[in-house]
Amino acid sequence: MVSVSIVFHLLFSAFSLKRIQSSTYILEHALKMQVIEHPVERLRTALLSTRKDLIETYQHFSRPEKTLLEEGLLPGSSLFSPITIHSDSDWIPAHPEDPQDFQSFYVNPYRRSPSSGCNTIYIQTIGSFGEGAVVAEQYVEWLKDYCQAFYYGLVVKLLPPVTVASTACSFRINDNTHNLQLHAGELLNFLKKRKPRDAFCIVGITMIDLYPRDSWNFVFGQASLTEGMGVFSFARYDDHFYHRSYAGRLKKKIKLKQGDYSVFENYYTPPITSILLLRSCKTLTHEIGHIFGVKHCQWLNCVMQGSNHLEESDRRPLDLCPICLRKLQSAIGFKIADRYKALLCWIEDGADTRQHSKPTQAFQEYKDWLYKCLRILEGEKS
Ligand SMILES: [Zn+2]
Ligand SMILES: [Zn+2]
Repeated sequence: MVSVSIVFHLLFSAFSLKRIQSSTYILEHALKMQVIEHPVERLRTALLSTRKDLIETYQHFSRPEKTLLEEGLLPGSSLFSPITIHSDSDWIPAHPEDPQDFQSFYVNPYRRSPSSGCNTIYIQTIGSFGEGAVVAEQYVEWLKDYCQAFYYGLVVKLLPPVTVASTACSFRINDNTHNLQLHAGELLNFLKKRKPRDAFCIVGITMIDLYPRDSWNFVFGQASLTEGMGVFSFARYDDHFYHRSYAGRLKKKIKLKQGDYSVFENYYTPPITSILLLRSCKTLTHEIGHIFGVKHCQWLNCVMQGSNHLEESDRRPLDLCPICLRKLQSAIGFKIADRYKALLCWIEDGADTRQHSKPTQAFQEYKDWLYKCLRILEGEKS
């Protein structure tokens, strides 16, 4: 088989603005927003597929599981709502592509599935995280545990943290925002060498901004799907990133010397707030979803929706729509209720009054949603 290396950049600063053409878009003139209302039958085919064998495997879901999955297809569903496009700079108008239904996901020969020898997701932190070592260590543990609940059935492990210097990657100061940036492609080369044999994938995370090549402003992340790796930055999830007073802006024009990483010592990293935790959980699970071969969702509100900017990313929910959930379930094989219970446990666990308690305030809406889903899965009337 020819080895196909798909490397793609996630979320970048230059958009191509193209208009959407589809009969399924309804224009809400008053708000100039577009709600993507797919006909129920189209959503049903996207979930079940047209192939006899795939329709048969759908029947392996329990009755309450099917009730939950199909609830999202109905107009006015209280659990899964249609996607609303707020402007031409949103992902879907800027990146027109065919939506991926369950069947096209399933038949993609290049998608990756975990196997018994390769079922661990490795997280590699690069550079410092948070204001203090204790908080940083705790924060990365929370992220790891969240990923393990989200990708229920897989093991998620942290690799020992590395400094920027040990990656030997190139770096620069961004001309517009005056913050430090690391070369994403070189970080991927570094991760490739660190990838353990039993890895389903390895993901590098950093609080330092990334750039893919000299001519680009920045990227939130970059991934190689066929090689099962990705690198993502949470730097721009700091609420103050775009403010002139952002603490990561270098005050004076420093002359950087490639190979001299001392500039990263004591470099600013964002404080770990509930919002930052939520945004990083969302980004990390979205990006790992791509490594499974799940493309950007255009069906319903879903964590796999593409996003071009922070406001759009904040609009996305934390979890998967029924169609993307079936994709993930077919790759891993969990019971849907077990996965939701694990996520609920993550929110409720450790969010107490201890000093470094998990800041889960921003997850309250998600918690209520999980309870609603579980009520359906446990056969109770909601
Ligand atoms: Zn994406
Ligand atoms: Zn989806």
